Amino acid sequence: MKKQFIAGNWKMNLTLDEAGDLARKLYVELDNSSAVDIGVFPAFVFLRDICDIFHGNKVYVGAQNMYLEKSGAFTGEVSGGMLRDVGCTHVIIGHSERRTIFLETNSVINSKIKAALSCGLKPIVCVGEKQEERDADKTYEVVGDQLSEGLAGLTSEEAGELTIAYEPVWAIGTGKTATPEQANEVHTFIRNTIKSKYDVDTAQSIRIQYGGSVNSKNADELLGQPEIDGALVGGASLESGSFLDIVSAAGRLS
Ligand code: PEP
Repeated sequence: MKKQFIAGNWKMNLTLDEAGDLARKLYVELDNSSAVDIGVFPAFVFLRDICDIFHGNKVYVGAQNMYLEKSGAFTGEVSGGMLRDVGCTHVIIGHSERRTIFLETNSVINSKIKAALSCGLKPIVCVGEKQEERDADKTYEVVGDQLSEGLAGLTSEEAGELTIAYEPVWAIGTGKTATPEQANEVHTFIRNTIKSKYDVDTAQSIRIQYGGSVNSKNADELLGQPEIDGALVGGASLESGSFLDIVSAAGRLS
């Protein structure tokens, strides 16, 4: 079994004080065991402070997005190099909120993944179908396209740097979770897609997280599925107790 990776996407939530308190609680509560990989993804403006709190220990810190260019006249955007500069190691790319609200296409996501890798950031690449796509039996088509277009041109070495997060859009922030079986089926499809695009080793080593209303009650069952290697957690990552419960559930599987 691979080491599980539990990541907390704080989205556009918390004040600076609240974000600092949450990070300090996690720092105090987490032991030094490396049984589970843990990451938090605060808003851009808090990244430096949160990196300082963890000072490279126990928890990876990453951004929720980045721009695809290195620098220049792109008002309001943040580059991968800037994220590295403040201490980030990871970045979420292609979250469904970026795809639907900010109209990011698979091609933009592909460029962002390449830009992240080129400056040494490890991307968590989000894929997942909308409710109407699942209802129309298009889950594999949609997720297959997101993978083939999103990962276009990446070598197997580069693909090996990625974490994929399967996040059915209908399960994000809705309290409606995919059943462990539904999630495991799509994870199996993703792993097989990586295998046919690259090779068995890349497919076996890449971690595939599940995301969509993961909480302390359903974490054991979801994380216990053979193809689920961790979770990308939204709402339940904003409170230290529920996030730590999910981390503990992952730890029990190690
Ligand atoms: C997310 O935003 O990536 C997410 C999975 O959110 P939630 O856990 O709140 O559904």
